[in-house]
Amino acid sequence: MSTVTSKNWKNKKGTGERTCVCGSWKNHWIKFAKKDWPEYCSVKECGNAPVLGAHVINAEVEGERIVPMCDSCNKLQESFDLKGEVTVVRANTRETCEK
Ligand SMILES: [Zn+2]
Ligand SMILES: [Zn+2]
Repeated sequence: MSTVTSKNWKNKKGTGERTCVCGSWKNHWIKFAKKDWPEYCSVKECGNAPVLGAHVINAEVEGERIVPMCDSCNKLQESFDLKGEVTVVRANTRETCEK
């Protein structure tokens, strides 16, 4: 799941009220990335600390994904690139925490 493209991602709108059994999408990311929460936001060239697990989508990637993101990048309307080493976790709970 870490081999997907880093180019041309967008925020998925209207996901603010969604929840999963992990308690937060931050926890969901930590659990399924099997990594510590990163020091920096996943968006390329952003140096802010990530505060949430953001729902993101990409035309070339199947399904919604979760990446660590800062508040301001989570409000981006236009598409953005991710840092090359970002682990992109599946958001679909039937494939992850509620399997
Ligand atoms: Zn979960
Ligand atoms: Zn950011």
